[in-house]
Amino acid sequence: CGITARVGTGDAVDELLSGLRNLEYRGYDSAGVATVTPDGLDVIKRSGEIDELCEAVEATAVRGATGIGHTRWSTHGPPTDANAHPHTDCLGQVAVVHNGIIDNYTELKDELSTHDFTSDTDTEVVPHLIEELLSAGYPPEEAFRRAVDRISGSYAIAAVFEGSDAVYGTRSGSPLVLGRSSDRCYLASDVPAFLEYTDEVVYLQDDDVVVMDPDGYDITDTDGVAVQREVETVDWDP
Ligand code: GLU
Repeated sequence: CGITARVGTGDAVDELLSGLRNLEYRGYDSAGVATVTPDGLDVIKRSGEIDELCEAVEATAVRGATGIGHTRWSTHGPPTDANAHPHTDCLGQVAVVHNGIIDNYTELKDELSTHDFTSDTDTEVVPHLIEELLSAGYPPEEAFRRAVDRISGSYAIAAVFEGSDAVYGTRSGSPLVLGRSSDRCYLASDVPAFLEYTDEVVYLQDDDVVVMDPDGYDITDTDGVAVQREVETVDWDP
């Protein structure tokens, strides 16, 4: 299973898809991408091979400079198109990808019983929690933080919001690595996802919250206090 994300100059989709292919070694049963477009979030997801996702992406000409991608290794719910990530809220304001398990999802789902859930996954509570927080007036970053505060378990999560060119990410017990180049930032479960685009990486730690946009990235702790993480140069052969 794996996560990819990118922001910056140029189009996201090809880089998200090549990133997912480079994470295939981690195993998966479904795959999907979401991009931010002027008309809202574009989400395409399929059970099965990444090739099937690529065909679907070509057929619909998904575009956008900001996006997230996912390969799923099912833990909650069978490998169907509906259970594939990204998952969204009822209004299509946020799209979320997640690796790992959310231990308290049953309790959260009960709390969100007025929401229409469209999958059997534990993950889907996250976009619905974010929707509640957006409705309560919190801006995207605060809504993301507060939603993450509510979940327990093991996770790496990335999210994009309608009308925003930023990607939000966090981790706890699952890997998440940031890559940066002069005009783009990447987020992934592992370095090979973006190694053909940059070799400058930051290994995120548990409970780091990263916000990356076309101007760069910020890493903070759960309280929003800036944390410094070393930028390392990897010398793997792509
Ligand atoms: N628990 C989530 C699901 O079943 C994520 C699985 C994964 O790590 O890919 O959809």
